[in-house]
Order: sequence, then C-alpha cells, then structure tokens
Amino acid sequence: MKKYDDLVVGAGLFGAVFARQAADAGRKVLVIDKRPNIGGNVYTEAVEGIQVHKYGAHIFHTNNREVWDYVNRFAEFNRFTNSPVANYKGELYSLPFNMYTFNKMWGVVTPEEAAWEIERQREAAGITEPANLEEQAISLVGTDIYEKLIKGYTQKQWGRPCSELPSFIIKRLPVRLTFDNNYFNALFQGIPIGGYTGMVANMLEGIEVRLNADYLEDKETYDSLADRVVYTGPIDAYFDYRLGTLEYRSVRFETELLDMPNFQGNAAVNYTDAETPWTRIIEHKWFEFGKDSDGNDLPKTVISREYSSEWKPGDEPYYPVNNDKNNNLYLSYKELAEKEDHVIFGGRLAEYKYYDMDAVIASALECTRKAGL
Ligand code: UDP
Repeated sequence: MKKYDDLVVGAGLFGAVFARQAADAGRKVLVIDKRPNIGGNVYTEAVEGIQVHKYGAHIFHTNNREVWDYVNRFAEFNRFTNSPVANYKGELYSLPFNMYTFNKMWGVVTPEEAAWEIERQREAAGITEPANLEEQAISLVGTDIYEKLIKGYTQKQWGRPCSELPSFIIKRLPVRLTFDNNYFNALFQGIPIGGYTGMVANMLEGIEVRLNADYLEDKETYDSLADRVVYTGPIDAYFDYRLGTLEYRSVRFETELLDMPNFQGNAAVNYTDAETPWTRIIEHKWFEFGKDSDGNDLPKTVISREYSSEWKPGDEPYYPVNNDKNNNLYLSYKELAEKEDHVIFGGRLAEYKYYDMDAVIASALECTRKAGL
C-alpha cells in the first residue's frame, strides 16, 4: 500500500484542478511543486495592496460555461475587460484590430471603408493561401497594420521572423469591423478578486501540498509515495532530454513600484516597434479596480516591463515554440509518455501547448473524467 493514491507534480492550474477532482472523489492526494509557491504561472502576490501578476499578466476569459462555473466555485471574478493599447513610436492604437484601430490608421469612418482598405492591401500583397504568421497577418488586416502593430512585436516576443512562425498565433486576436476594444471574443471574462493565488489555494483546500519539492531531483522517492503520478512539468525534462530539447520562449520582468497613482492609464500597453527592448508594460492595479476613479485612491502603482528571450536550461519556460520541428519532437516524447502507464501528462509544459487558462482547466476536467474521477 502506497501512502497516496495520486502524486500531482506541479501546483499550477492543471495540477490544482486535477488534485481537487481527485480529492473530491475520495482519493488521497499529495501535490508538490518545486517553486516556493502554488499557482504556477498564474501566481499573484500583493505589493502595496496591489495584486502583482508575477509570471505575466493573466486575464481569465472563456466561452465554456462549465469552466466558468467551475472557477467561480473558487473565486469571485471582477468585471475586467482586456483592452490593451498599442504604442508604435508614440502613436497609440486600440487593440484588438477594430474600427478604432482602422480609423486611427487610415482615417476610415465606416466598416465598409475599413473592409475595402484591408482588401486593397491584401490584394496588393498577392496572398491567397497564407502559409505563415506574416502572410496570415497581412491577409487578415493588411500591410500597414502588419508593419506597425504586428511585425516588431511578434518578432520581439518570439525571437523569430514572422515568416517562420505558425499562423495560429495571430488567429488568437479578433479582427472586428465594430467599435469594440474587447481583446477577447469570450462570453465570460474577469480577474479573481484578491488574485489568482487565492483561487488556486481554494482549489487546493484540504489537500496536502509540499513546496520547494523538486520531483525530478528525487523521482524514485516521490514515485514510491503514490500509485499514480500526474506530471505537469516539461515533458522533455521528464525524459532527461534524451531525444533533444524542446524550444521555449522565456520572459523576464522588470517590476517597479512607482510613487505615482497612474503611470499609463491602462493595464497593458504593447510596444509594437522593433527597437523598444520590452514587448509590453503591465500596470497591475488596473486589473483590479476597473478604469474608474477608485484606483486613483492608491498613491502608488506597480509596473512590469516584459522582456522576451530564448529559453535555455535553468530559465523558466513560458511559451512553447510550436513550429514543425518542435511539434515533431514533442510527438516523439509523447510516444514515450504513453508507455509510462502510471503517469498522466497534462498542462502547458507536459503537452507542449500554447494554452489559455480556460483550456487548461477544461483539459484537466476532461482528464479526470477519463481517469474515472
Ligand atoms: N500580437 C501582435 N501585436 C500586439 C499583440 C499581439 O502582433 O500588439 C500578436 C503576436 O504575434 C502575439 C500574438 O498576437 O504573439 C498573441 O498575442 P497575445 O496577446 O494573445 O499573447 P499572450 O497574451 O498570450 O502573450
């Protein structure tokens, strides 16, 4: 008899949801994480009364009612709507690409004029079947927007030319012929009041959690504790990189506490030129208080400049680089993973997938169902 039924490796969203479902089904669960905190990359911590998104901005959005109801069991959500601003060499544009953007870019006033201008630029570029992010972007919004709002930002974020990136990345962004700056096409959107850490803590309530516990450092001992392992770390690390290393983008944040109530007037400002070294600046207080005067009651503000870099061993992996080379390598690792019959691999790092939070939760719920929980 082993001490636990399930050992969940990683206290991020996948791990926390799996652990909750397993515990509710009566299983004895141990969650471990190598970091000193729960929450994975959605971890938030309070600085001067402001919830700081320490591993990058996370805005919860979903069309999946089951997932929305699920997260609302563990947190109350505010009514934050993501509407980032793009700063191209001091020119400000609304995001996602919508009538406000088109009006500022071209002076067009009606949806018909905007559609016509996009069509004109698409035809001039001669793209019929977009084969990469560059061609996909131009065919969605035309050359001007590609040059000013997409090219520099994307190349900074991914460290690769847009012509070498998969087109699905840009399809994350809506293109609208309406005056609507809501970044997401989602029925439900918001940020947990009090931060994501509290939400994950509520998911893990009553479940044993060990922090600063590195599974791969002492795999045999941990494996001996439980009948089943749910592994949410990097899949290539699990197999000691034996087939090669999967590429990731890493992100570094320069976070500052500023002695002013309002630095940029918005939660996210993207710097879309190629020269500015950071990709975006996050002003964390605006995630919490909405855009009304309440936030101005706090005399200070916390901002994070976000710098993107190629991942190397020892760095935090953030975005999987889902090009053909990496996807094929992942598939080879997946074959190995399928042979580990007492281990479930799930989440962004174990599935090598550019996952939104709601999709991770949906996947964890599906996984627990398949496991008979
Ligand atoms: N993107 C862009 N300009 C922007 C914002 C986004 O070109 O101002 C593109 C870029 O290719 C990026 C992709 O859209 O990688 C997805 O952006 P999103 O904001 O969804 O990325 P995340 O928030 O996940 O980092």
